[in-house]
Amino acid sequence: MRLIDGKAHAARLGEQVTARAAELRSQGVDPTLAVVVPTDDEATAWYVRSIARTAEKVGVTCRIVTLDRPAGDDVAGTLAELGADPGVHGLICQTPLPDGVTLDQVGEHIPVAKDVDGANPASLGRLAAGLPAYAPATARAVLELLLAENVPLEGVAATVVGRSTVVGKPAALLLLAQNATVTVAHSRTRDLAAVCRQADVLVAAVGRAHLIGADHIKPGAVVIDVGTNPTADGGLTGDVDPAVTTAGALTPVPGGVGPVTTMLLLAQTLDAATSD
Ligand code: NAP
Repeated sequence: MRLIDGKAHAARLGEQVTARAAELRSQGVDPTLAVVVPTDDEATAWYVRSIARTAEKVGVTCRIVTLDRPAGDDVAGTLAELGADPGVHGLICQTPLPDGVTLDQVGEHIPVAKDVDGANPASLGRLAAGLPAYAPATARAVLELLLAENVPLEGVAATVVGRSTVVGKPAALLLLAQNATVTVAHSRTRDLAAVCRQADVLVAAVGRAHLIGADHIKPGAVVIDVGTNPTADGGLTGDVDPAVTTAGALTPVPGGVGPVTTMLLLAQTLDAATSD
């Protein structure tokens, strides 16, 4: 079984992003991603620092706007303000959000043209309609890894486990656009293992450590593990049991989908800066 090296793919994409960012700068454009952080959650802070570090390496400006215990209206207002700022090209909002507030609600305040992590429900609608749209970077990373690894998608059985608006649904739509025959499984799916075993391409986006075992995987299938589940020793582990050996290829956690996601967020920021 082959491990798909997400870091190597991210490095390859990073070279392209660096060159494109330099080109924009030579034209007087300062490509900028604004990140609204409405929480003091430590895991979120770690992720935002990692975006900022990567952005600095590739020449994208990362403006972090931290809100101290905001109400829902504060988040929406901040997003609307940054959305109207011509110096901001890409705009994302981190979770968790204040109690009672959903990403769909605040996402509506991110202009579609700057919605580089596909948080505005209108972006998902455009994706579903086959119109140009930014997909959530994680879903885009799933597709990027499959395409870069030359995995055939046309006509193959692809199963996505998970139906969230940030990962599962957009990943399913992107696979459908590649003419895969897509099944979406979720917590009410009966006999998940049997459904997954049909798949030539299996995407796990659940958030349950090692839910997907050998009995879920068709021998030779390509498995993309989106899950990031905290471990007792402070690390991360995926939704797929790492002891699985029967897959044809598998993305490791960490070092699979994650690094590609961050780079695609920055690539989509450059797309937004270029389409100004
Ligand atoms: P989410 O919103 O909690 O959605 C989880 C999905 O999994 C839901 O659709 C749920 O079904 C389904 N599910 C839960 N238990 C299940 C079970 N036992 N069998 C089958 N399906 C089950 O999570 P998310 O935001 O999509 O994130 C999924 C995972 O990806 C998490 O580990 C998250 O940390 C990770 N993630 C990684 C990245 C990255 O860049 N690597 C980015 C984003 C998220 P129902 O709809 O029926 O409840």
